[in-house]
Amino acid sequence: MPDDFVLKASGLTKDFKGFRAVDNVNLNIRRHSIHALIGPNGAGKSTCFNLLTKFLTPTAGTITFEGRDITRMSPGNIARAGLVRSFQISAVFGSMTALENVRIALQRRRHGDSWDFWRSEKVLARLEAEAMELLEAVGMSAFARHRASDLSYGRKRALEIATTLALDPKVLLLDEPMAGMTQEDVTRITALIAKVAEGRTVVMVEHNLSVVSTLCDQITVLARGAILAEGKYEDVSRDPRVINAYIGV
Ligand code: ADP
Ligand code: MG
Repeated sequence: MPDDFVLKASGLTKDFKGFRAVDNVNLNIRRHSIHALIGPNGAGKSTCFNLLTKFLTPTAGTITFEGRDITRMSPGNIARAGLVRSFQISAVFGSMTALENVRIALQRRRHGDSWDFWRSEKVLARLEAEAMELLEAVGMSAFARHRASDLSYGRKRALEIATTLALDPKVLLLDEPMAGMTQEDVTRITALIAKVAEGRTVVMVEHNLSVVSTLCDQITVLARGAILAEGKYEDVSRDPRVINAYIGV
């Protein structure tokens, strides 16, 4: 029987020179859910994402993805297995067009560092067509030929999500996807995340609690590296410990 939980962390801990940034965290991420990781600044949310994708090595704890222990797997193999993160700071190539950004992400997945595919017009045309489909999926096809650096912040984020989708993730980790956005962009990206989450699992760090309450099935609250509360938005948002952690910082 397939496990209900696509991603699990058990006893996840990270010390930075004697400072414990993540302290014995257990996470159980249900397949096809949208799971929020919230908490005050410095709570350890981004560090958790870095540990789950092995951008950082845990001091202690185990991580299981699709029933496999990935604790010692390399970041590249984790991404190829389908656990993919985006970064808090937008990471698109400004001098390239939106379409080129997505095509390059597709190329990397299909062909790695090999450039042999350049010899085949057919392969290039197919990559471009698929890149266009991904841009359509995030509502960006009208901006395909725009330079990425000319796009608004919200559209850069949508483009970044398209490049992440090019890796065909099973689980997508989004670190503050709404940071620095106008209300209009927040509305657009909220709808986009809901769509992207169909048939996938999304874990997101998000400060905008109205977005969290709209999108997320399950919430984990971190404070000072440890789990403070867990559950549905209605329960977590009424929890006095959670209210205190937010007010008391
Ligand atoms: P959040 O994303 O919840 O705001 P972070 O995970 O970025 O918090 O950081 C948690 C704590 O760990 C903070 O106190 C931060 O200063 C510290 N920290 C994060 N990365 C490092 C690092 N590479 N070296 C030392 N301390 C770090
Ligand atoms: Mg962070």
